[in-house]
Amino acid sequence: MGYSSVGESANSEELPLASAQNQDGTSRVPNSSEFVACNNCFKNLGISIEAKKIGKQSAAKCPRCGTSDGAKLTGEQLWTLQNNFFLAGSKVSAYYPPPIGTGGAELSSSQFEANTWADYLLIRDLTGVGLFWYGPPLWRLGHSLLREKVEARLKPDEYQWPLSVGQETTLDDLWDEAITVLKPMLLEEGEKIFRARVLAKNRLNAGEYDSPPPGFIKPCRFNDSTHQVFYGALDVETCLVELKLGPSELVRNEVTVARFALKRPLRVLNLCDIVRGDLDQSDFVERMALLSGLLFPHERDYFMTQSFSRHIEKRGFDGIMHPSAFRYIGNVESRNLVIFGSPVKDGRLELLDINAVTVGSFSYDLRFGPAYEQ
Ligand SMILES: [Zn+2]
Repeated sequence: MGYSSVGESANSEELPLASAQNQDGTSRVPNSSEFVACNNCFKNLGISIEAKKIGKQSAAKCPRCGTSDGAKLTGEQLWTLQNNFFLAGSKVSAYYPPPIGTGGAELSSSQFEANTWADYLLIRDLTGVGLFWYGPPLWRLGHSLLREKVEARLKPDEYQWPLSVGQETTLDDLWDEAITVLKPMLLEEGEKIFRARVLAKNRLNAGEYDSPPPGFIKPCRFNDSTHQVFYGALDVETCLVELKLGPSELVRNEVTVARFALKRPLRVLNLCDIVRGDLDQSDFVERMALLSGLLFPHERDYFMTQSFSRHIEKRGFDGIMHPSAFRYIGNVESRNLVIFGSPVKDGRLELLDINAVTVGSFSYDLRFGPAYEQ
């Protein structure tokens, strides 16, 4: 099935795909092997491009518009088009669920530009499936009572409630509760770790790739201004992406990457896999919402991740493995590694080599969706 545009498997579960089946299980879509439209049938450029990706080029005349040079689509493919463009394409950000779905309020023409609306009506008529404004559950946006409790303890001046409820529960208790859905992971001796720098002063000095010394620490996602932390990744691409390079760094050869090997095993907390275990659904959702919310690329949440990082170190872990915020786009499994302390200086990491890295080409995989008014 062609749902590739809907997103990687981690997100597709959360996407409320419009159902092309009637209650009794029979298909609402016309005979699925027959072509019913082509990409020329659509007025909106984005819908036409998305249709072309799904359809099949053939010399046959389109049964609807009569042209022969378009990519032809079956009823089932139109349903895929509807999902790709209107559901996956309506997300306000890659890590939020789509506001358009299968339940809620009727869509209206005033929400869309005229071509989009005309094409929506055409697809709806051909698939028999209408779409609605959908109110996504708050936990999908990273909201949970557990999170509010953590926030209330970190910013007591801003929160009256729920600080007053269960006041005896400490911040450490709350973080301990959250991490029951995570597993420790052992990185073996010899595992390769990469760290990239832009404009390193002494490019060939291993120390340049270590955590900054006290006094030079800038607060970041997993460290406050006095917490010494090494940021690396398990592959070069993830390092490069995390540097968020601008045009000047891309054009000049300013990036160097050091490759290290672990001199001894590291025990890290793995944020890449959240495991339900035998928790009941609501407890699991609370914890998952708190933890996955920490991984959204929001600098305003760094006070949370910094506190989390301190707690994990206090619990005896050597570091944290976490997915890149860029996992929402692209298809690489990007894993970042935070190591507490100064692992190059204290001998836990051994330098293997250092290279200059440039970016040879870009390619964007563009996916279209509706522009809409809320
Ligand atoms: Zn056509």
